[in-house]
Amino acid sequence: MSKLRFDVVQDAFKKKAVVVEAPEGKISDYFGELVFNRDKMHKYLDAKTFNALVNCIDNGAHLDRQTADGVAAGMKTWALEHGVTHITHWFQPLTDGTAEKHDSFMEYDGKGGMIETFDGKALVQQEPDASSFPNGGIRATFEARGYTAWDPTSPVFIQDDTLCIPTVFISYTGEALDYKTPLKKALKAVNDAALPICRMFDPKVNKVISYLGWEQEYFLVDEDLYAARPDLMLTGRTLMGHASSKNQQLDDHYFGAIPSRVAAFMRDIEIAGYKLGIPLKTRHNEVAPNQFELAPIYGETNLSNDQNQQIMNTMNYIARKHGFVVLFHEKPFDGINGSGKHNNWSLGTDTGTLLLAPGKDAMGNLQFVTFFVNVLAAVQKHNDLLKASIASATNAHRLGANEAPPAIVSAFLGNTMTAVLRKLLEVPSDTPIEIAGKKGKSLGLVEIPEIFVDNTDRNRTSPFAFTGNRFEFRAVGSSANCAGAMTTLNAAVAEQLIAFKKDVDKAMKAGKPMNIAFMDTLKPIIKSIIDVVCFDGNGYTDEWKKEAKKRGLDVETNVPKMFKAFTTPKAIELFTKLGVYSEKELEARNEVKWETYTKKVQIEGRVIGRMAINHIIPAALAYQTKLLKNITAMKEVFADNYSAMAGVSMGLVTSISELVTDLRQQVDAMVEARKKANAIEDEYKKALAYHEIADSLFPLRKTIDKLEEVVDNDMWPLPKYRELLFIN
Ligand code: ADP
Ligand code: MG
Repeated sequence: MSKLRFDVVQDAFKKKAVVVEAPEGKISDYFGELVFNRDKMHKYLDAKTFNALVNCIDNGAHLDRQTADGVAAGMKTWALEHGVTHITHWFQPLTDGTAEKHDSFMEYDGKGGMIETFDGKALVQQEPDASSFPNGGIRATFEARGYTAWDPTSPVFIQDDTLCIPTVFISYTGEALDYKTPLKKALKAVNDAALPICRMFDPKVNKVISYLGWEQEYFLVDEDLYAARPDLMLTGRTLMGHASSKNQQLDDHYFGAIPSRVAAFMRDIEIAGYKLGIPLKTRHNEVAPNQFELAPIYGETNLSNDQNQQIMNTMNYIARKHGFVVLFHEKPFDGINGSGKHNNWSLGTDTGTLLLAPGKDAMGNLQFVTFFVNVLAAVQKHNDLLKASIASATNAHRLGANEAPPAIVSAFLGNTMTAVLRKLLEVPSDTPIEIAGKKGKSLGLVEIPEIFVDNTDRNRTSPFAFTGNRFEFRAVGSSANCAGAMTTLNAAVAEQLIAFKKDVDKAMKAGKPMNIAFMDTLKPIIKSIIDVVCFDGNGYTDEWKKEAKKRGLDVETNVPKMFKAFTTPKAIELFTKLGVYSEKELEARNEVKWETYTKKVQIEGRVIGRMAINHIIPAALAYQTKLLKNITAMKEVFADNYSAMAGVSMGLVTSISELVTDLRQQVDAMVEARKKANAIEDEYKKALAYHEIADSLFPLRKTIDKLEEVVDNDMWPLPKYRELLFIN
């Protein structure tokens, strides 16, 4: 046993960085090589098909069968040139990750041979079995059909030998069974709501685009050590493990030199990402040992989210080539930072204006303040829902656990914007909002900096922070599909913008000029957000929890309870009015969330129970037996004096007995609790019961961690934190 563990560690040390073969030429030469983008469309489609497809992508025009056949033919030619043999509809069901079912291009040619075929029908639609994916009861097995339908706004790409077609996934009766469908609906809603407002400022605007720039945090562990940890393999996190003597206290990992094996892995990821047209920009070490981050240049939200899913898949398999396993779990290790996926979000127009950045003149600034304030109002109204949108069994370990994010959704504005908003409340509604420094300071003027230089004026504890030209929704979990959060945020903003526009229209009808109508409508909203959702202090303190409750913000910390926010009258109204989710979909998705929560905790409970009984207790008892032999030998040799001589051994024997007894009792109690919980039919109540079980896993692991401290290192059956975290 001890030998094996030692060998594993030795092996890991000996590993060398894999040599990465970069494609020839500059990145820009091979960027997007494996994506059927505009260039390829131009090259592989005839003019008529090209125009029809572009019209479909840019303007949402219907894609007729003839065009689809033409597109499929062009794609096939391109794919065959890349050695592609299979196609798949690539979709994002309500599980972790993506789904694909590969079909080869092969068909009988009717002349005794085979031929590669791919037509518009196969491109546009497939019918996977919906009952095998989480559906919250929408699909009974007897009517299990589901549809995947091509989303032409996400480009088709090649992965390995397979042509991947990004699709939505819906049930036979039309309910969404995936992340993409509601996201697309929310993006349409926010465009529809924002466009009329933007047109008041600039009639040339034709489209409002929602942007997402994600920052993906992750851990790497050596794959041999991973294989020796059943908890990591089955749950994605360590369910036990005493803190390493050194962890992140020296702050020597953040932005430190990237270890060579890791650097090679990152380079490989980037090359793969560039080929897939993913504009990866930033890579660095994160705060915790063996924790890293990857971020692209932001892009249109639906596409950017697809790319996040693609890169997560790619990271999983490229890591293996480098002898690593990627951990996307939000909290793989106790006692050090967990991982998130900051969602940098903004709105912009097709004329190139970023709506959450200061404008060029007073009207531009009014437009900026309008969007800025309305976003905050939306966050305020739906703070409970936004929290629910990022809640999960795995993210629960970060939420409110004294690390980002707190389990309260508030917004950080920074000094500058707070001062601007306060000033706006004092001055007459027709006061222009000037660019700071352009006209010299004068009393009574509202000034805004053109660029927020002091971008470091940041508050790391805030879950929703303004960072100069965007908001950063920091509560999203590292393993999450960003669409959950992005659907909710964009929908909430759409609803708020619609209400705002209505009030502005009313004021203008009553004869107010546009700028006054805007400012008069904004003022009460500004007052309210300053009083409620805006908070620049430390989000981790108990005072804030009390204060937030007083302000009426949601302070719920229980994840299964948080999901209830999706079926409040306020949420149902939001989503159904905008056509993002039907009530049935909301209910079904909550069922899925509770079920997933329960299953994840259930698996953790089983794993920790079995590891306690089959790994930990036997190791502890084996060591205890060794100690007892030592005591017996002492007695033989030293007779009367033995008890003083064997004191240490005797103390350890006692400690181990106590800890092992505790552990057995804790496991038995947990198994009993699980049995009771399993008998509950109602998914919500079951999840609540499992929430308590989740809490009980922590004291259980603490007992194991205490045993780790006393048991002979050679006899400990698992790689320890110091090995998992410091070998690269
Ligand atoms: P940080 O300093 O917050 O860690 P990073 O450089 O790691 O910043 O990531 C910032 C992310 O925000 C990048 O993906 C970047 O492209 C994105 N971003 C920048 N501006 C915008 C914007 N206006 N809208 C959306 N995302 C943006
Ligand atoms: Mg970052």
